[in-house]
Amino acid sequence: MQYSGDLKKITTQNTKPVKYYLDLGDDFIELNNLIGKQINFKYTKKIKCFCGKIVDKVYRQNFCYECFYSLPQASESIMKPELCKAHLNEEVRDIEWEKEFELKPHIVYLAVSSGLKVGVTRKTQIPTRWIDQGAESAIEFAEVPNRYLAGKIEVELKQHVSDKTSWQKMLKNPAPEVDLLEWKNKLYDFMPEDTKQYFLKDRNNVHEIEFPIDSYPEKVKSIKLDKHIDYSGKVKAIKGQYIIFENGDVINIRSHEGYIVEFSFKS
Ligand SMILES: [Zn+2]
Repeated sequence: MQYSGDLKKITTQNTKPVKYYLDLGDDFIELNNLIGKQINFKYTKKIKCFCGKIVDKVYRQNFCYECFYSLPQASESIMKPELCKAHLNEEVRDIEWEKEFELKPHIVYLAVSSGLKVGVTRKTQIPTRWIDQGAESAIEFAEVPNRYLAGKIEVELKQHVSDKTSWQKMLKNPAPEVDLLEWKNKLYDFMPEDTKQYFLKDRNNVHEIEFPIDSYPEKVKSIKLDKHIDYSGKVKAIKGQYIIFENGDVINIRSHEGYIVEFSFKS
């Protein structure tokens, strides 16, 4: 079967194990069914930006030049929520969009991917955010009314736990055992005083996520379609936003968002 379109973040469904769907615009391909099969990506060297423009060169998150420097979706506060300004009614790039995005309930969470980490997401992104990070377990830490407050809490907590995932470690190993509840209670002490009211002292269920992965590769090598414009491999597993191949090659689909490809597999 042959398909073509621009790659998007892989769509997931939180079943046990997680179900993954490659979204190519017109076609939705269930990736779990392709485990054990040979798939092929042919990159056309064109990238479709979020605005619809087809370009050759992109910036962080695969935005075109104009979008990267003008859209609120590409502003620094996306990566650093503590820089958000909408709660002060101050515009960074587009106050209407920023209010709509930032003045919504956000969750500060603890998750175990390559190790224990702290993170921030919109409430509606749970559990998608954890699946995308390859977290095998997670607990909600605090629920706040806007993104700025989530960032403020995260800034303090990341003095004590990482806010990053090591992708190599996450793809080569099952997540380590971590007592999330114990950490949650321990980290409460480090919350800024004026945010302690948002601590979720009664929401203590630990979410477990199971990925379609039977055995882990010994070493992993990241494949970028820019360098491998015609890539074929046999799918071994899927974790986070990564397709893992039998030889240890891995492709992070999210980092190829917008790449226009032809996709095929041998059934
Ligand atoms: Zn654009």
